[in-house]
Amino acid sequence: MSNLPILQFEDKILATVHENPVVVIIGETGSGKSTQLSQILLRNGYTNSGIIAVTQPRRVAAVSVSRRVAQELDVRLGDEVGYAIRFEDRTSERTRIKYLTDGVLLRESLSDPELKQYSVIILDEAHERSLNTDILMGLMKRLIKLRASNLKVLITSATLDGEKVSDFFSECPILNVPGKLFPVEILYSAEQPKSYIESSLRKAIDIHVNEPEGDILIFMTGQDDIEKLVSRLEEKIQSLEAGSCMDAVVLPLHGSLPPEMQIRVFSPPPKDCRRIIVATNIAETSLTVDGVVYVIDSGYVKQRQYNPSTGMYSLDVVEISRVQANQRAGRAGRTRPGKCYRLYPLAVYQDNLLEATVPEIQRSSLAGSVLYLKSLDLPDIDILKFDFLDAPSSESLQDALKQLFLIDAIDENGTITNIGKTMAELPLEPSLARTLIEANKYDCLPQALTVAAMLSVEGTLLPGRSKHTDKKRKQPPSELPDGSGWGDHIQLLQIYELWDQTDYSTDWVKDNNLQVRGMLFVKNVRKQLCQIMQKFAKGSLDVRRKERRRDRQNDYKNLRKSLCVGYASQLAERMIRHNGYRTVGFKSQLVQVHPSSVLRTDDEGVYPNYVVYHELISTSHPYMRNVCEVE
Ligand code: ADP
Repeated sequence: MSNLPILQFEDKILATVHENPVVVIIGETGSGKSTQLSQILLRNGYTNSGIIAVTQPRRVAAVSVSRRVAQELDVRLGDEVGYAIRFEDRTSERTRIKYLTDGVLLRESLSDPELKQYSVIILDEAHERSLNTDILMGLMKRLIKLRASNLKVLITSATLDGEKVSDFFSECPILNVPGKLFPVEILYSAEQPKSYIESSLRKAIDIHVNEPEGDILIFMTGQDDIEKLVSRLEEKIQSLEAGSCMDAVVLPLHGSLPPEMQIRVFSPPPKDCRRIIVATNIAETSLTVDGVVYVIDSGYVKQRQYNPSTGMYSLDVVEISRVQANQRAGRAGRTRPGKCYRLYPLAVYQDNLLEATVPEIQRSSLAGSVLYLKSLDLPDIDILKFDFLDAPSSESLQDALKQLFLIDAIDENGTITNIGKTMAELPLEPSLARTLIEANKYDCLPQALTVAAMLSVEGTLLPGRSKHTDKKRKQPPSELPDGSGWGDHIQLLQIYELWDQTDYSTDWVKDNNLQVRGMLFVKNVRKQLCQIMQKFAKGSLDVRRKERRRDRQNDYKNLRKSLCVGYASQLAERMIRHNGYRTVGFKSQLVQVHPSSVLRTDDEGVYPNYVVYHELISTSHPYMRNVCEVE
C-alpha cells in the first residue's frame, strides 16, 4: 500500500484541494484513488467538520473498497469506515469515511439538498460516465456555489478527458497521477473468432502451459459466459497431465457474485499456483486485481441500451471502445511487463471500435432521473436545459416527461405533483412507486410492497429467470393458490406469502428452487420499503394482516387495479392476428410475452386481452417481461 503512486502526491493533492473547491484527479487504475484519497484527507483534518463521501457507480466496488479501507485503518467496517448501497446501510454515527453508490448520494440529497453532513464529496470512477454520476456532476456545480467555503469536491477518473470536466467546473485544476505501468505487449488475432468463449479457453490453456508464472485475466461479457468458461477451464485443467505445468485455480468475478466469492480475487494464490480470473468489465477499472501478467480481451461488453422511440431496453453484446481496450491491456502491466491477447485483428481495433464508450445518460430511460430532478424543486433547474456534461437527446427527455405525465407524477405544465413528490421518496422506479401509492388507496399496500420487493431483487431470485430467454422458468411452488394465472406479479406475491407462512424457512426456499440469499434480501428490502411507506399507510403493512380475515381474491383484484395505474405507460393489448400484443399509448409496436412468464402458454385461447408489463426487452424478439393481466 505504501508504494501506491498517489501517496507520492499527497502534498500536492492537499495543497491543490486546500486552494480550490473542485479538483479533478486523473490516475491510472490501481494508483490508489479509491482507497487512498479518502485516507489522505482523513489524516489531514478534513473530517473535523463533516464526513468524506466517496461515490462509486457500482455496488460491489462500494462494498469492496470500504472493506479494504477499514482493513488498512484497522477499524471495523461500519464504524469509522462504512458503506451505503441501495437497501443496505453499513454506517454508524462514528462513520467518517462513507463509500456509497452515486444513486444513494442522489437520494440523500432529496432530504438534505445541500448535503450538509459532508465536508468532502469524491465522485470516483467518473470515467464510467454512469447516469447518476453525470447527474451528480451537474448538482455539484450548483452545490459548490452554495457551500464554497465548506465543501470540497474531487472528481477522479482513470481515463476521463480531464479538460472537459475541468471546463465544466470553471476550469478547475487537474492533477495527473502518473501510474507506474510496465510495458504491455499487445498481440492481435488474425481474424475475429467464431466463439470468444472457445478462443479464450484455448488461449488461456496455451498461456498456462507455455508461459512463465503470472495470473491470467480474461474479459468476458457477462455472468452466463463467465460460468460457461469457468467450468470449461476447470475441466480442461483437470485433464492436463499432472506435473506438466504448475497448478491453476479459476476464479469468476462479476457483480452478482456473493461478497465472499468476490473477495477471493484479492487474496494471493497458493505458491506455484496460477490464477485464471474470468471477469466482466468490472475488472477494467472498478476493482484492481494484482498479480495479473496476461490479459485475454474478448473485445466485447454487455450493455443495456434504451431506445426512447420504442420504450424498449435491449441487453446487447457490443464491441468495447478503444479506451476500454487500452484499460484492459493495462491490467497486464501492474506487477511486471505483461502481454495482452486481443481476440480481434488490429484493423478492428483501429477502424471499428469507437474512441470512447457512449455515456449511460445517452442510452437509458430517464424517467427516474427526471422525476428526481423535478422533485428537488430547484427554481434554477429546468430539466430540458439542465447542465449536463453530455446532454441526453431531447427525444429521451420528452419520452421521460410523457411517461411521468401518464402516471400523474407531473401535470400538463411539467410541474411535479404531490403524487410525484411521494414517488420520488421511494427508492424504486417510477412505475412501481406509483403502484404503491395507488395500492394504499385500494387497501392492498402490503401486497404491493411484497411485489415491489420481489421485483427489485429480480435476477438473483429464480434460477430459471436469468437472461436465457430460451429457458423456461423453473416450476413455481406447486401449492400456489388460485390467481397465479393472472400473471407474474401475482405469482411473485404468492411465492412470498407462502414463504412467510413457513416462518421464512430456508429449507422451503431450497425445496422450491429459489435462492436463499435472494429471498432473504427481498425480506430485507420489503422491511425497508415498509418503513418508508409507513407514514402514508392506512393500516398494518404486515404480510399477514391480523385485523380481519382477508379475501385473497379481492386483494389480487385490487392489486391488479393498482398495477394498471402504476404501469399506465406500460400497457399492451392482445392482437390475435399477430399472435402477440401491441403496446398501447404513445408508442405502438408488436411484442410477445417473455418465455419466462407464468402467462406464457401453448394454448392461444387463454391469453388475456390486456396486460401491463414491467419492462420491454429486446433479445431474439421484442418481449414483455413480468406481465400481469388487467381489465
Ligand atoms: P484506483 O482507485 O486508483 O484504481 P485502488 O485504490 O482501487 O486504485 O487500488 C489500490 C490498490 O489497493 C490496488 O493494488 C488494489 O489491488 C488494492 N485493493 C483495492 N481494493 C482491495 C480489496 N478489497 N482488497 C485488497 N486489496 C484491494
